[in-house]
Parts: sequence; C-alpha cells; structure tokens
Amino acid sequence: MKVTPMMQQYLDAKAAYPDALMLFRLGDFYEAFLEDAEVIAEELDLTLTSRGKDTASPIPMCGVPHHAVEGYIRRLLEKGYSVARCDQLEDASQVKGLVRRGVTSVYTPGMRLDGDSLEAKENNYTVAVALSSLRDADTYAIGALDLSTGEFHITEAMSLDGLSSEIRRLRPAEILVTEENAAILEDQLLDLQQRVVTRPNEHAQLQRVLSGKTGSLLDTPIDGTAIEVRNQQEVATMVGALDAYTIRDRRAVEMAVSILLHRVSDTQGGIPRHLDPPRVQRAEDYLELDEFSMANLEIFETLMGGRKKGTLFDTIDRTLTAAGGRRLRTWLTYPLQSVDAILARQSRVSAMVSQPAAREKIRELLRKTSDMQRISSKLVAGQGNARDLNILRDTILQMPELAAVAHDFKHESISQAADKLTLCIDIGERIAETIVDEPPVALNEGGLIRKGYDASLDKLIALSTEGKQWLLNYEAQERARTGISSLKVRHNKVFGFYIEVTRANLDAVPEDYIRKQTLANSERYFTTDLKEYEENILSANERRMAQEYEIFCGLRDEIIASLAQIREVAWQIAELDAIAALAQLAHEGAYVAPTIRQESGIEIEDGRHPVVEAMLRDERFVPNDVHLSPEARLLLITGPNMAGKSTVIRQVALITLMAQIGSFVPAKRATIGVVDQIFSRVGASDNLARGQSTFMVEMSEVARILQRATARSLIILDEIGRGTATWDGLSIAWSVTEYLHDQVGALTLFATHYHELTELARTRSGVRNFNIAVREWDEQIIFLRRLVEGPANRSYGIQVARLAGVPDAVVQRAKTILHNLEQTEIGPDDQPAIAREYSESGEPIMKPANQMSLFGAVEASTREPAADHPVLKEIRGVDVAQTMPLDALILIDKWKRKLSKSKR
Ligand code: ADP
Repeated sequence: MKVTPMMQQYLDAKAAYPDALMLFRLGDFYEAFLEDAEVIAEELDLTLTSRGKDTASPIPMCGVPHHAVEGYIRRLLEKGYSVARCDQLEDASQVKGLVRRGVTSVYTPGMRLDGDSLEAKENNYTVAVALSSLRDADTYAIGALDLSTGEFHITEAMSLDGLSSEIRRLRPAEILVTEENAAILEDQLLDLQQRVVTRPNEHAQLQRVLSGKTGSLLDTPIDGTAIEVRNQQEVATMVGALDAYTIRDRRAVEMAVSILLHRVSDTQGGIPRHLDPPRVQRAEDYLELDEFSMANLEIFETLMGGRKKGTLFDTIDRTLTAAGGRRLRTWLTYPLQSVDAILARQSRVSAMVSQPAAREKIRELLRKTSDMQRISSKLVAGQGNARDLNILRDTILQMPELAAVAHDFKHESISQAADKLTLCIDIGERIAETIVDEPPVALNEGGLIRKGYDASLDKLIALSTEGKQWLLNYEAQERARTGISSLKVRHNKVFGFYIEVTRANLDAVPEDYIRKQTLANSERYFTTDLKEYEENILSANERRMAQEYEIFCGLRDEIIASLAQIREVAWQIAELDAIAALAQLAHEGAYVAPTIRQESGIEIEDGRHPVVEAMLRDERFVPNDVHLSPEARLLLITGPNMAGKSTVIRQVALITLMAQIGSFVPAKRATIGVVDQIFSRVGASDNLARGQSTFMVEMSEVARILQRATARSLIILDEIGRGTATWDGLSIAWSVTEYLHDQVGALTLFATHYHELTELARTRSGVRNFNIAVREWDEQIIFLRRLVEGPANRSYGIQVARLAGVPDAVVQRAKTILHNLEQTEIGPDDQPAIAREYSESGEPIMKPANQMSLFGAVEASTREPAADHPVLKEIRGVDVAQTMPLDALILIDKWKRKLSKSKR
C-alpha cells in the first residue's frame, strides 16, 4: 500500500494510541480507517466505504459529521471501547499543504465526564489496584476515582478476598493494573477481565506524576477550549493529602494513586482542577458485605436477571436528585460500624421524620436542583456551554430558600449544612447578570450575553441588529433617487449585500452603481456606501461574537476559581437529599428508628422484609420477631418450601444493614448491636437458575465464611449443603453449624430443610430451633408466615402427599419408614446419634456429662454423675410438702414427655 502523507499522519497518531479507536478529522467529518473503520461501521451501523477504490489496496473507511461526533463517541464508550479524537491543529484555510493534526482527547469507559449520558444515580468509577511487594504482599490498595464527579478514595484490603469484594462493590467501568501485577491478580479478576486495562509499570511511580512526566496529549484543536488543569505544585498539594491518614502500606496506596493520576493525565492532558484529593478509607470503619452477600441480598441487582427493579436500593430510594441518589448508594455500599457515626446520621433522619411539613418543603426545593457536581466537572473540562451556566445559576440562586427551610428543622448538624449552602451565591448572581435567559448551545456565534452587561458589546450588537432598519432606509432612499419602485436591497451568504434591478428598469440605473452579478431577469449592483456598510457590519458581528465568547470564558474562569465552594454546596445538597429521602421512606413505610449499640445482639420486634412487603399486593405481610444474642446466637429455621424461611432470614440482614446506614427500619421496635460483616449464602440447589452455581462454588463460599467471620458478624445461610447427596450434605451442614457455634460465635440464621439439624439444639447451648408455622385446612396447606419456637413438623411432606391424593396405604407406609428413621436419631445417651464422637480406638464416646443436653444445660455446674438422668435430678429437687396436687400432675406429665422424647 502506498502511503500518502495524510495517511502517514493517521498511522502515526494511531500508533501512539493503539488501544483506542481513532477518529480523524478530515474537513467536516471525523473519519475512521482500516480495522477501526470496520469495527465502528459494525457497531454504529454506518456505511463502510473505502478510500482509493481504484488502487490495488483500497483502505476501508467510514465517517461521522464533526458536529455530531460526541454522540457517536458516547455510543462507542457504552459498548466498552476507548476512543481517541485526532483534530486539526491549524486552520485549513490558512495553510498550504497538509494541515497539522494531533490527538486532543482520549475517552475511555472510565474516563468520562458527560453527565447526560452516565447513569444519574450511579458513580462511574475507574479503579486501580496495587500490591506493593509482589508475591508475599498481604495489603492491597484499591484506588477509586470518578472523573465525572471528582470523587477519589483509596481503601486498603488485608486479603485477596477483601480486595476482590472491594472491587466488586465499586462496580468499576475500568480496572487498571500494572503489567507486573496483572499476572498476579489474573485469577481474582478473571470474571472482570473485559474491564481490566494493563498499564506500564512506571505508571505506578508517583514521582513521575509529581515531576509532571505524564500526559502525552498534544495542543488543543483550533475550535476547542482547553481543560483547566492543576500545575505541578497543586498536584503535589493534592497528593500531599495522603499524609493526613494512617496508612498501612503507604507504598501500595501511592502506587494506586499514581496509576489513576497517570490515567487521568494521559486522557485529559493533565490533572483537572475538579478532582478531590485522595481520601483514605479504613476498611474497619465500614460494615463489610462481600460480593456474594451483595448479590444474595439483592442490594443493587436482582439475583436472577441482574435487574434494578425489586432490589433494596430501588425499593428504598426516595432521593430526588442525581447526587443524592449517588450518596444513598454510597451509604449502602459502605454501611458504618461506629455507633456514634450511625447515630449522628440517624438523628438527622429523625429530625426530618418528625417534621413532615418542613420535610415536604425541602423536598420540593431539592427536586428543582441540578447535578452541580457533574456540571462543574464539565465546565472544568472546557465542555460546558452557556446553558450549563444557567442551570448552575438556577440551583445556586435557590440556595437561600433551601437553607432557610433546612434551618427550620432546628437540628444542629442540618443547620451547619444549611450555612454552607449559600457559599457561592455571588457566582449565581454573576451568571444571572451576564448570561441571557435562553442562550444558544454554540459558544462562538453570539447571543450569549445580556444587554447592558458591557457597553462596548452593546454597541456592536446594535450595529449588527439595527442593520435591518438601515437597509430599509437605504432601499427607500435609492428608490426615490432612481425612480425604480421595484428596486431591492438584499443580502446573501455568497455575494453579501447587493442592489437588484430588473431588466426592464436597467435604463434608470445611475452611474455610481457597480455591477456585481448578472441574472436572467435582473442585474445586481453595489455602491461604495453599501460596501462600506457591509464591512462595518461584518466586522461588528465578528467582534461581537469574539467578545461574547471572551466574556463567557472569563465568567467560566471565575466559576472555576470558586470550584471548591461549588463542590461544597453540591455535597451538602446531596447529603440533605439522601437524609430527607430516608426520612420520607420511614414516613411512607411506618419504619422505626432502631436502637444502635455496641453490645452484640439483634432484637427485632414485628420486623418486615422491606422489599417483599413492598411487592405484596393482595396479601398482608406478616411481621415476625427475631432475637439473636451471644446466648442464643444460632437460629435453625425449618419449615416447608415457600413457608417464608428465606424471607425472614433476609429481613434480619436487611434490617441490620439499613440500621447501620443510619436509616429507620421496617419493624415495630429494633435494637441492633453493630456487626462487622454480613455474610449471606444460598445453597446450590436453590440457586440452580443461575446456572453457574455448583456445589464446589457453594463450598468455597462457605469456606470463606468460616475463615473470615468473627463473633461480631451476622451470617445468613439458606439451604447450605443441599447441593450434594443427603447424608453427605447433612454431615457438612451439621459440622459447619457446630463450627460456627463453637469457634466463630457469630450471630447466625440458618434456614434448612434438614430436620436432623434441629437436634443440634440438644448439643449446643446457643442453638435455638424455630419454624414457620403452617396449618392444614380444608384439604390445603395454609402458610401462616409466623416464626414460632421449636422444630417444624417432620411429617409435613407426608401430609402433603396425603392431601395430593397419594393412596392411603402408601401414606401409612411412609409414616412407618419415617418412624424407623427417627428411631435411630437419638442415642441411649439422649444425644443425637448423628453427632457422636469417637475415641482414637474407634469407641463411641458416651459422655453426656460433657455435653450440653437440652435439659441439663442450665445446671451444667452442678451436674450429677453420667448415669443420672436430668429427670431424676428434677424429681430429687421437688419439695413435696410445698407441691399442690395439680402441680404434681403437671410435673409428672412433663417428666413423661421428656422421657418419651429421649427414648424415641
Ligand atoms: P422459603 O424460603 O421458605 O421457601 P420464601 O421465604 O421464599 O420461602 O417465601 C415464599 C414467598 O412467601 C415469598 O416470596 C413471599 O411472597 C411470601 N412470604 C414470605 N414471608 C412472608 C411474610 N412474612 N408475609 C407475607 N408473605 C410472605
């Protein structure tokens, strides 16, 4: 292929950005060539043509009009591509030969500013992962940066699991890792492979950022505005913010910061002013929810189909602004652990719950605010127009009213927020006095600036607009002078101003008319007066447009200078919106403020599942009580399919989670001892619809819980162990439960089909049995949805068989078999045979005295010899002289029942 100079220019640009699709400015189009053209034509449904059709090797190409390029770029980004824009750097009409071109913008799925096309209530994070000392590293830094909002934070993870969870909860658009670390993290990021972008190792060197060795973008294009970037000193100050934090592995944190800043700089041409300094989050300040728990509890996505509808966030979100929605999302992503921090937030929610009139007023005002965070980011990047300024103006000028309403709550910290709302009123006023109410989108065609703002501009405007009258006057004057009543003075783009005279009147044309153009039926002329006027008006128009643009840019610079205040106001609006939203939710759902405390234990009275409750139409949701404490820390919940087991255990997790974000909860009363982690697992058999859940996956999730949960954790297990053969699965479920009870000590809710497990309560003091009541009525099974103490009726399946019409003989036989099976469950030592332990020689260990029996638990310290049955002990303890006859009968009945149970 013979390469023309222009093609060479293209190939050079492409070589510098091999990972991006290149859009190359040619006249009024952006063109793509070669493979890029094929990809773009396919993805955007454009016609693929070719350049040099007649030559031996034509080059595939496709193009989009330059004024619409942003829309096409957006679509490519949404499909996961990166795009580089190569612009003309000189005015083509001013140069001979090849115009200089260069890449001026690089867009990637993570490096996006465009608030209009991003999901309003979601952050768009780019994440960088760093390990400081390769193989044996045990701390990892995860940097998260949202270019569209300027948010920037780092979290340190203490394990690969923690790293993996943190990345997944951020749901990043891109994950940056250095070449060196890519291989190490490959397994962890396998399912996210498509979003992983490998960066050169030197990008992890913060020194390179600080010495300004980043950013390979060229100059700005002839028709573009420059992004406002920080100078080296400012970047150093920004990075210096790290000093304020206690950091475990400073090197890893710096590497993550560096990789992100390199990325920003490479795509934006520097570090834009709107980026926050990096904030370091301590993992231990937040309740940890790993990826599986997030998925199982359906916080942001449903388990099946990954939809948003029907998730916790979707159900509880009452925010009215995009930034408020993002804040609530962040709160749910990072629930708190500190009692004080939770109560501080909860107290603001309470204030707004208890004052409905003020809450409604503040929400009405919030509804009218705009996304100041993303708009200001756009302005910094030189992308905003005059309409964006007006949107900003409207929001800013509403702040005094919003602040006044916020003060009405008479709540200290809400009032502090209110005081900050009015920080940038002057900017709002400056925009109001400068920009017209309905400016055009284009910045260089005039029509932006208010009359009266600048006297010299007004003169220019007058000259160009009053021109119409001048032309009419001139036409009248020339008609009178020449006597040609059909004479016209007109203007067109190509020939400018002219006087038109029809053929019939040519005789009357005066000497001083100079011919300009001959048409079929008329002649066109100009005069020196007309020429002079034309020049005046043209230059006035040009000067006017230039001056308006200059005023706009000046104003934008002023706004950028006040960026810190604008961002502060935006932050407070988001905060107020999220608080007011939680208050509104509490009001609508009749939620209560939970008591939050440090001591372990969860007590919920009349708790409801927020999502299931919201989705029920004809049925009423049946509330339930749940009490978990170190003494009763493991609840086994049995009951038939569809009884409501999953619902009740999940509602405990969701109520705890909501309590720890500072929200009210769906219950009549609740006391929550803060938990450090919530684990939620669904057994393989329940999860088959997902297709990928094998027993191996289930077990590795269980393994993770056993390794990571602490006595301060909350664990929700749903049908664990059912993914394998019955005895096999039961054995695992049994030993997992024992381990959780004995070794981990976490608060646990275990919904299970395995009736055998209910015998665990005989051997473990902290285990309690519960079941979800059902009633047989009129040949039907009625689900009562009530959680009641004790194991479920084990012959439930047989009952269903009977109701379904299975012959009586079969039903009776099944009952006998069930009876036989149950016979062997409890050994002569009154302990579940299934749980028996053996000595090294293989002898069964029969030592009820060392185990907690259901009846013996309380008296463990005064325990009688092994052969002594607890019932005997009770008999010995009875003071006959003090016992009334009826009480004696009741006691005898009780002992009989105890004895028959243990002898079964
Ligand atoms: P299980 O886990 O026992 O199979 P689920 O918890 O999935 O049962 O509950 C089945 C269905 O019953 C739920 O989808 C819900 O519609 C309904 N349900 C569960 N708990 C309640 C309740 N407390 N009040 C009203 N309906 C409920």
